[in-house]
Amino acid sequence: MHHARATLKEQGYRLTPQRTAVWETLRGAGRHMTAEEVAGATRRSLPGIDTSTVYRTLELLVSLDLVTETKLGSARSYFEVSPDPGHHHFVCERCGAVGHFGDELFAPLYRALEASDGFTPTRARATVFGVCRRCRDGAGEPARPARPAADGTPAPRLADDEAPAPGRP
Ligand SMILES: [Zn+2]
Ligand SMILES: [Zn+2]
Repeated sequence: MHHARATLKEQGYRLTPQRTAVWETLRGAGRHMTAEEVAGATRRSLPGIDTSTVYRTLELLVSLDLVTETKLGSARSYFEVSPDPGHHHFVCERCGAVGHFGDELFAPLYRALEASDGFTPTRARATVFGVCRRCRDGAGEPARPARPAADGTPAPRLADDEAPAPGRP
């Protein structure tokens, strides 16, 4: 269970089968999932787990920083195993596809803030909304509110989603 096991124990939480199942679901998926998706997928490995237990477990894992909740759009929250810091999102407003970009793209902005305002940035957190390549090229679904593909189309997977860095607390 990776660092989650150690963190839970350290904080005095028992490693219940439910907590293990929710964590393994997110880790195995390696992508952003809504709470409903996590509940559905967790039930496949642990039939009988109820939705409110899944939601409470997600809250716990978020509070311990093992899982990151990102609000993308007004009503939609996505959960993922906490990625490396300096991890930002871009989200397609048509199909809900989510991607990541790194801190390095902020370098010009940081330099500009330093030069113009004498402000030294230490970190940023950004979500960029737009239209993904698939949708732009007409291969995506017709316009609808941002949501993850419900038809089984996998969300975009990126390297840092698939391989949580070892040795993180
Ligand atoms: Zn993410
Ligand atoms: Zn799209």
